[in-house]
Amino acid sequence: MTFHFDKDKNHFFTQNLLRWHASHHRPLPWKGEKNPYLVWLSEIILQQTRVEQGLPYFEKFKEKYPAVHDLARAPEDEVMKMWEGLGYYSRARNLHAAAKFIANELGGIFPNKYEDIRALKGVGDYTAAAIASFAFDLPHAVVDGNVYRVLSRYFGIEEPVDTTAGKKLFAKLAQELLDETQPGKYNQAIMDFGAGHCTPASPSCPDCPMQPHCEAFKQNKIAQLPVKSKKLERRQRFFNYLIFNQQESVFIKKRTEKDIWRNLYDFPLIETESLPEERNFVLKNKIWKLWLEKTEYRLLRVSAPFKQELTHQQIIARFWEIEVDGAFQPDETSWLKTERRNLKNFAFPKVVDLYFKQKFLPLELF
Ligand code: SF4
Repeated sequence: MTFHFDKDKNHFFTQNLLRWHASHHRPLPWKGEKNPYLVWLSEIILQQTRVEQGLPYFEKFKEKYPAVHDLARAPEDEVMKMWEGLGYYSRARNLHAAAKFIANELGGIFPNKYEDIRALKGVGDYTAAAIASFAFDLPHAVVDGNVYRVLSRYFGIEEPVDTTAGKKLFAKLAQELLDETQPGKYNQAIMDFGAGHCTPASPSCPDCPMQPHCEAFKQNKIAQLPVKSKKLERRQRFFNYLIFNQQESVFIKKRTEKDIWRNLYDFPLIETESLPEERNFVLKNKIWKLWLEKTEYRLLRVSAPFKQELTHQQIIARFWEIEVDGAFQPDETSWLKTERRNLKNFAFPKVVDLYFKQKFLPLELF
């Protein structure tokens, strides 16, 4: 699809957006912030996260690590624990790695050019533009899901937003619309407008300042825009967690493999093609048999399935609580024996935390 840039339509959009923002902006602790470290911290926390969810994390990170050196010096397990519950854990790993890079390689000075900001681990086009404009007033327009939605509707663009051509078109248009005299303000305005006014399911069209020129409104195409070419496919995975109880202790392990939840902790795990439905599964499984061969053990209980939705995967987990005697000493270097009361010091995936919260309720035993 060819799209023609129309100066008047663009001008109307930018002016009305800024006017709308002057009376609708939502005060948040990172808004107006010029310290690039704090801007960066807030932007990484807010990636794929709602403001309400990210807010307490921003506050506690800011308090614990007020400067980049503090974050760089922190042990990785501590950073992961601080991030627990926020999801997309690669963000925490990258944040920590980039803090070390800034502290050790750049003398603690945050980069002040777009390309150098973009080169930091975990920083993509969107985050680089946000940091560059908020902290340094550099003229780079942000483009994210909110921006795709607002622009595709206002301009009536049917080009899919998830193709190379579509991304290029929207990036060019977003840059044309940017008010270069106040890039930070403009970027904040379009993000707030997308998040709070032109929302996915119920945009506030009746009192929208864009309405006179909004193509989606005129053509009754709001629900069809933006267009996406690919449907998100979610793979189901079945996790069987073994919780070996040895008196007051249990065995946990760090996830070091290249998979979801890297550097978080969980329990010895057997992944299966489906969810086992027989109690004997635990005794029949070859690997478990090997581990339990020389041990007196008792299957205490089996949990109901717990679910966690990730962007591309759905995790369905069962927890098998097993009591083992003192002879149980698995030959697994990645396992760590810890007292139950110390489990709170480790960062676990959400599905394990859910189990911790609910396991005192009666659970299924088949
Ligand atoms: S009129 Fe409706 S669809 Fe168009 S920009 Fe405003 S809120 Fe969004």
